Amino acid sequence: MRTPTRHFELSLADLRAAVRGRVIGPDDDGYDAARTVVIGGIDRRPAVIVKVADAADVGRVVRVARDTGLELAVKSGGHSGAGHSTTEGGILLDLSDMKALDVDVDGRTAWAETGLTAGEVTAAVAAHGLVVGFGDTGSVGIGGITLGGGIGYLVRKHGLTIDNLIGAEIVTADGELHRVDADQEPDLFWAVRGGGGNFGVATRFGFRLHELPGFVGGMLVLPATAETVAGFIAAAEAAPEELSTIANIMPAPPMPFLAPEVHGELVILGMLAWAGDPAAGEAAIAPFRALATPYADMVKPSTYPEMFPPDEGEYHPLAVARTLFLDRVDRATATTIVETLRAYDAPMRVAQLRVLGGAMARVPAEATAFAHRASRIMAVAAAFHEGPDDKAAREAWVEAFAAAIRQGDSGAYVNFVNDEGPERVRAAYPGSTWDRLVELKRRYDPTNLFRLNQNVPPTAEAAR
Ligand SMILES: Cc1cc2nc3c(=O)[nH]c(=O)nc-3n(C[C@H](O)[C@H](O)[C@H](O)COP(=O)(O)OP(=O)(O)OC[C@H]3O[C@@H](n4cnc5c(N)ncnc54)[C@H](O)[C@@H]3O)c2cc1C
Repeated sequence: MRTPTRHFELSLADLRAAVRGRVIGPDDDGYDAARTVVIGGIDRRPAVIVKVADAADVGRVVRVARDTGLELAVKSGGHSGAGHSTTEGGILLDLSDMKALDVDVDGRTAWAETGLTAGEVTAAVAAHGLVVGFGDTGSVGIGGITLGGGIGYLVRKHGLTIDNLIGAEIVTADGELHRVDADQEPDLFWAVRGGGGNFGVATRFGFRLHELPGFVGGMLVLPATAETVAGFIAAAEAAPEELSTIANIMPAPPMPFLAPEVHGELVILGMLAWAGDPAAGEAAIAPFRALATPYADMVKPSTYPEMFPPDEGEYHPLAVARTLFLDRVDRATATTIVETLRAYDAPMRVAQLRVLGGAMARVPAEATAFAHRASRIMAVAAAFHEGPDDKAAREAWVEAFAAAIRQGDSGAYVNFVNDEGPERVRAAYPGSTWDRLVELKRRYDPTNLFRLNQNVPPTAEAAR
């Protein structure tokens, strides 16, 4: 790998003079707040944080990173589980001040700057009766989630977030702004749909919006047994694609709507989202309600933005996780899931299962850099830890848990991969997807300026 040559020293004064946005150095007010990321236990001190104001600022900061050779971190919503959106001693390019949003209600499109969060875009387009799907959490930045794919509550009805991407604006390693879509630089448009932050800094995304004829959604809490877990997944697979679900199998948190004797019991904390006619939605949800007497049933006709939990403010969880795709959750797999969770002692431990398919599966695997179109179910095994003392043990447990349920699908979803080494990045980009990404990386970022990410290196070794 070529190491960028260090030509110039970083000058905060020059940077301040060069950009419209805010330049925050280690001695400035707001430095500690600005260097904080969502995941706990990450305490890095950038040499400078630039809260860019526009795409021209982004181009200037990219050039400064290139000219100084300093490590460049790119942050939209700050949710990277791998800690990629901050740097020790480098330049942090923070997009969170870039929040312009243009909605074309008649044309059913929206152009959104990448400092916006999923919740902000969702609420703004919902005001016009329109939707575009992101994930399950409103505070996640549209920058990171979109570049990795985007699997959320509309995945079966409207596909991944990238399946609704009509174009993107991206500043590449030479500092130039490119507008890419199906006609202009289609290779780069292919790469940004799943290839993460490897190709440049995305400044704006264009999304196709959809009308929502009605919505039924919310949380259904059921006792977790092998039978209910397998039954939940079977019901989710059998449901029309208007229904997308997330099953979190975990000890019940002390939620106020759960009876005290349920707290700590193993439950399915199910999130159900029906994007369609409400009466048909009630019928589709009935099989889930019939699995057992629910501990809580808050699934009701509502609005799509209500699916997102309230913003958790200064919440910085310490968690370890492993993600994988499953072909099926039959009784045997469900038994392993329930018994593994029952036998462990971490106060917060979870298996999350998302049935895929529908619109997402109809896109050809080679059409975007997200290739896992045939994968049936996405799983995550996760546990909270308290710090260095118990992190390794918790990590060993999630690793063993994932190994115990792994089946034939060796892929991984890049946005749920943490700091797990190059093999796991390869798992996110199987076969010819990897080869094409490496070729495009060589073309657009030959010195690997954008390397603080789930990295696709532009090297000969990577091409093998
Ligand atoms: C609580 C939580 C819930 C989640 N739920 C879901 C879910 O339901 N579905 C799902 O698909 N994912 C989900 N994720 C994963 C999430 O999509 C990724 O962590 C994503 O990278 C976060 O985006 P961000 O902009 O907030 O993060 P950041 O930390 O700001 O960015 C992550 C990385 O993405 C790249 N990046 C971000 N913005 C840009 C940009 N504008 N240009 C170039 N590169 C950029 C950079 O490499 C950066 O290091 C969840 C994560 C968390 C923590």
